Amino acid sequence: MFARLFSLITLSVVSGLVIASTIVVSNRPLHSLATSVLEGVTTPILLLPNSQSLHFQNLKPSQALLARDADRVYWLGPLVEPELSTFQATHWVDVSLHPSVIWRPIRAWGDQDQSYTSTRDPHIWLDLENGKALVHAMAADAGTTFPDQASQINVNARNLIVRIEQLDRTLAKRFEDSARRGYAVSHDAYQYFEARYGLTSKAILSRDPHAGTSAFRVRLMADAIAKAEVSCLFSEPALSSRILKRLESEYAIPVIELDPLGFARAPGAELYLELIEAIGDGFLDCFQRGKP
Ligand SMILES: [Zn+2]
Repeated sequence: MFARLFSLITLSVVSGLVIASTIVVSNRPLHSLATSVLEGVTTPILLLPNSQSLHFQNLKPSQALLARDADRVYWLGPLVEPELSTFQATHWVDVSLHPSVIWRPIRAWGDQDQSYTSTRDPHIWLDLENGKALVHAMAADAGTTFPDQASQINVNARNLIVRIEQLDRTLAKRFEDSARRGYAVSHDAYQYFEARYGLTSKAILSRDPHAGTSAFRVRLMADAIAKAEVSCLFSEPALSSRILKRLESEYAIPVIELDPLGFARAPGAELYLELIEAIGDGFLDCFQRGKP
């Protein structure tokens, strides 16, 4: 009896230590924000370290178990991460539901070659205002998950929001001081970033990089380049760039790589701010290359 009681107590203590409020976060940018929010409290685990796109995510059995056994899973909801929807459970927190998150409608396309089932653009994290909303959402939930450390979590969230606002002001100023040029994007992911700083792309190759593009889209883009409406093309690490390579060599137009998920960066607290800053650098680099 005593032995059994003892082993039960030991088990609960040990298991309490082992699984003490595990926080799992679905994607790199959100994981970065969660790491800052939870600094000194716990280290959140990145669920999909190798995912190159939020449009197509596949959970391995070990990752599905990790998500199942976590105390909390922070994710961006079925609109942004549709493939994860089948795994969601009551301990999953869709932080995109925070009331301050700004959603933008999918841009109108002349052709119907690619269609999302949703009418809302999923790339919400690329607006720093949304970054702040996601911080608020995770801080509120983490404060109830770790009630003893709620004040630490609040301080972390406030500090992070100050840094996000600083970056936002810096970017706004840099864009204000720079001449705007036309540009084209290979993946229609940047509407949130563009809207924030008053930018507009002249041509878009593909709504979803994994679904490819259409001859119609390629022709529109080639026309825009031929008419010298664009100074550069934006590509991404995950994109197959056969078409971009062809356009690049045919029209001698620079191709600049943007990395909207921070795929080429080490996961962690700095990733989010760095990836947004690097997107700003990419746009400014394009504008400096020059064609009007
Ligand atoms: Zn996308």
